[in-house]
Amino acid sequence: MLKLKNIHTYYGNIHALKGIDLEVSEGEVISLIGANGAGKSTTLMTTCGVVPAKQGRIIFKGQDITRKSPDAIVKMGICQVPEGRRIFPYLTVAENLDMGAFLRNDKEGIKNDFDYVYNLFPILADRKNQAGGTLSGGEQQMLAISRALMSRPKVLLLDEPSLGLAPIIVKQIFSIIKKINQEQKTTIFIVEQNANLALKAAHRGYVMENGTITITDTGENLLANDDVRKAYLGM
Ligand code: ATP
Repeated sequence: MLKLKNIHTYYGNIHALKGIDLEVSEGEVISLIGANGAGKSTTLMTTCGVVPAKQGRIIFKGQDITRKSPDAIVKMGICQVPEGRRIFPYLTVAENLDMGAFLRNDKEGIKNDFDYVYNLFPILADRKNQAGGTLSGGEQQMLAISRALMSRPKVLLLDEPSLGLAPIIVKQIFSIIKKINQEQKTTIFIVEQNANLALKAAHRGYVMENGTITITDTGENLLANDDVRKAYLGM
């Protein structure tokens, strides 16, 4: 469904991605793990056109999207939940969700999706008239994921969904990510420092170091891999 082929991305002279090859099949949950500064967020931002690749190709459903603008990429069905959530703090929860649906005009479908996300995260239904900025960090993450779902994405890109959240909330969010994948058949690509949860949730995973992919395998095999256990699981 989504293919990155020999992707090189730069910030000025900094060579952040040094020839990334990565594939996400339809219906999969893929996790990309790695240390701080490895290039995980850059991989997501390059995929959605925010930091364009200097070399290489990105193919989505057979189409070359390497040079497409971020809004064209969203319209094609790739939606990112950025690191740090970035919800609209002065809009209510319901208005934030409405913003997620701004490209749609199927009223009935939108209403059903409101019901679906309120059912996934009942706390958002309780808080629907509250300003987004007054929510807790965990609730903002739930809102950011829900807002992305309102665009009915084919691929959901999640950048560090666990960042700054209490372990119990992180577990809840990861179990709902799996539920979204199973119920909505949404393909999900997670970038995460919490390697343990990210690999448990994933069909397959990629390990990134210094701008390159060093290991790829099933989530299960990566959790059992000695190098991964030592470097990322603290064992
Ligand atoms: P983290 O988990 O800390 O977010 P990461 O694996 O997502 O790390 P990136 O944020 O993709 O890593 O960073 C990859 C490299 O690119 C790092 O060396 C980083 O310092 C550099 N970098 C990232 N953003 C910028 C920027 N806007 N300008 C210059 N260099 C950047």
